Amino acid sequence: MPGSELRAPQEAMSPPRRVLVTGATGLLGRAVCREFEGGGWAVIGTGFRRAKPRLLRCDITDEDAVRALLQEYRPDVVVHCAAERRPDVMEHHSEAAVHLNVHATSTLAKEAAAGGALLLYISSDYVFDGRNPPYGEDDSPSPLNLYGRSKLEGERETLRHCPGGLVLRVPVLYGQVQSVGESAVTSLWETLQTGEDRGLDHLMKRHPTHTEDVAAVCRKICERAREDPSVRGVFHFSAKEQMTKYEMAVCIAEAFNLPTGHLIPLTEQPPPQQFALRPMNSQLSCCRLEQLNLSVEPRPFRAAVQTCLWPFTPDKLWRQTVFH
Ligand code: NAP
Repeated sequence: MPGSELRAPQEAMSPPRRVLVTGATGLLGRAVCREFEGGGWAVIGTGFRRAKPRLLRCDITDEDAVRALLQEYRPDVVVHCAAERRPDVMEHHSEAAVHLNVHATSTLAKEAAAGGALLLYISSDYVFDGRNPPYGEDDSPSPLNLYGRSKLEGERETLRHCPGGLVLRVPVLYGQVQSVGESAVTSLWETLQTGEDRGLDHLMKRHPTHTEDVAAVCRKICERAREDPSVRGVFHFSAKEQMTKYEMAVCIAEAFNLPTGHLIPLTEQPPPQQFALRPMNSQLSCCRLEQLNLSVEPRPFRAAVQTCLWPFTPDKLWRQTVFH
């Protein structure tokens, strides 16, 4: 085609699109950076306490710093992953955490709008109370804890300042971890190692979702939204397998041929004052995203979690100590 022959040299010369990823040192942010890099984007990753070479250090609760960051790098897209995402920590450090989850989101949204960048805000299934699943994108949120309320406020700030922005709600995440404690899913590994009797929740239904699948959705939905402005607002993404914490632990144990006799399924709720309240089953229905046909199929839990935890097996740790 003559037209495409003419366009090719221009396309080859055009600079890569720029994405700024907040929380690039975190569990999801790392996967998002890898995914956009693999897709040919120029990635500006920002972290805070763990920021190291190749990443920028920026305290996003500092409005001036956020403004300077966006004005200097002029991203086409901002993927906002930075947050305090531990519900129990939130209850005890509420002011600082709300400042991060809500006010910093508001600043980012204002600056993204001023610079004409598309903002994708990562949110959570904890915006729902878990009493009437599955939850569609238009169902009314009703968070049970401060974390959920702060994520909902972050969503509202995003869409208030960036009406063409995107909100992606996801459930509990696991993926390539730096330590097993980094994800509520992989932290079950430690429970399996002790062999001591251990009670695990067998009431709350969860849908553990891999960070690389979420990252693929992030890149593809941003690319689609840049082509088609009608793609905006709230979307859900979730793996389909439903499991309690106890079932996840048993599944991990079976994948590694570990004993399960010491795991005790708990079917009574913990006393409410001990932890932040959590939804019983905040299953997300992902219809809006499915209609976009982004071709991201959530990977099966057992094989994926095995890959994540394999570096922490005694054999692998021993090899690393001896040979590196
Ligand atoms: P994470 O691993 O805890 O990472 C949090 C990130 O926020 C880190 O990169 C951290 O940077 C950064 N951060 C903290 N304070 C900051 C500050 N003042 N300024 C700039 N950056 C700051 O979180 P995640 O699990 O990747 O979560 C990503 C997103 O997914 C969050 O919005 C969370 O609400 C949502 N989400 C997570 C889960 C889950 O199971 N993990 C489930 C549903 C939704 P440093 O470490 O360098 O300080």
